[in-house]
Amino acid sequence: MTDEFDIAIAGAGIAGLTAAITASRLGRKTLLLTGHVPGGLLLSINRIDGYPGFPEGVPGYDLCPMAQDQAVAAGTELVSGEVTAIEQRDDYFLLSAGGNPYQARTLIIATGAGLKALGVPGEERFQGKGVSHCASCDAPMLRHRTVVVIGGGDSAAQEALTLAESAADVIILHRGASLKAQFAYQQALRAHAAVSVRYHTVVEEILGDAAVTGVRFRDLTTGTSGVLDAAAVFAYIGLKPNTGLVKDLVQLDETGSIPVDAMLRTERRGLFAAGIVRTGAAGRAAGSAGDGALAAQSADAYLNTRAWRDT
Ligand code: NDP
Repeated sequence: MTDEFDIAIAGAGIAGLTAAITASRLGRKTLLLTGHVPGGLLLSINRIDGYPGFPEGVPGYDLCPMAQDQAVAAGTELVSGEVTAIEQRDDYFLLSAGGNPYQARTLIIATGAGLKALGVPGEERFQGKGVSHCASCDAPMLRHRTVVVIGGGDSAAQEALTLAESAADVIILHRGASLKAQFAYQQALRAHAAVSVRYHTVVEEILGDAAVTGVRFRDLTTGTSGVLDAAAVFAYIGLKPNTGLVKDLVQLDETGSIPVDAMLRTERRGLFAAGIVRTGAAGRAAGSAGDGALAAQSADAYLNTRAWRDT
């Protein structure tokens, strides 16, 4: 017979992990379906800034395993393996993960997001050969080299700063006239001698032979093209919510995120969404943790009262 849970959580980034800690501490029989690697996007981040209690930042690869241990100690059952199917039958969600069936009365979707691809020639070909999405993994191998970071948001800024600890030159190429990264990052970028920013610039191709040798860029103000030599290219141009699992269960918004109400309830009874996967997410690790806690509390309240939103 399939084990029955009060609250199942799909995704073990900081939102899912916090939901699991909270649900278990509320005494709910809790299942955390982690995907292949628990930790989500944060796992590869060298230094999560702005997370309460860590004034010097905290590595994602430290924070996420700590939260995972905390969830397990609180009583969460952890199952690794991708969730491949979700079906709602009567009062239950039937889930398939890692080839096994599970059953839960409520479900919190905390599947996070992936990085958007740039979509230019060379990006796929040089994946793992200089095209990378993990600055903290590759920075030590780029000592004294020139690297290109694409994007103007917090991710580009944060990862450029990680790379600047090793690389000789970190060149940020941004299509806009100004960065939208938070003030603290912009200050840090300005203060770092190894970092420079080139505005109004788009990458049209990633160049190389056996590995990346540079990029072909276009200056949007002059319309001229040029080549920039670089040993590695990191594109941080935004996030794509991982909502494939629920696209047939709820109507997604125009960005592909899951609409929720103030209690993180979706339009479907018993189904909640937390973290970067939901419409209006704060885009901060602390915000995702807050979402996880709120979603678990809301699921607990629903199990107590059976009250659901009107629409
Ligand atoms: P964002 O969506 O915030 O920024 C994406 C950047 O990439 C923008 O500057 C955008 O340009 C640019 N861009 C988008 N598409 C293209 C393209 N096709 N070609 C070139 N440039 C492009 O994504 P981030 O990954 O930076 O951040 C995601 C979320 O995570 C945000 O909410 C952010 O605040 C959060 N975050 C928070 C951190 C923290 O608090 N410490 C650290 C990292 C991320 P344009 O501005 O012109 O649209």
